[in-house]
Amino acid sequence: MELNGNGYGYFLSRQASGVRKRKATRGEVEALVELLTESSVTLAATDLPLAKEQASLARRVMMRFNIKLGYPTKSFTCHGCKSLMVPGVNARVRLGHGRPPTVRVTCLECGHINRKILRQP
Ligand SMILES: [Zn+2]
Repeated sequence: MELNGNGYGYFLSRQASGVRKRKATRGEVEALVELLTESSVTLAATDLPLAKEQASLARRVMMRFNIKLGYPTKSFTCHGCKSLMVPGVNARVRLGHGRPPTVRVTCLECGHINRKILRQP
């Protein structure tokens, strides 16, 4: 997809031309959200406030277009405070050796523990 021209505002503006239809297709929006999340994760190591802003933009786009993302992208959002959560920056990842095995990602912003149950073999 292309991001040149009017940029991200395109995805958040309502009815720029007065025509009542969706401006972007689902695939385009999903690609944008993934791109935003990816770049915010990369950015988190150097500029966390900006990365959070970018992540919240991705969230807003997601909510406007009512799309859900897969685990790899979704896992960077804390379910407690809804902010960006990057392991090594503001999150801690621990493995649970119980049955079933889990991955615990603790958000260091709010302390919420996000659990992911791994598939049973
Ligand atoms: Zn949190």
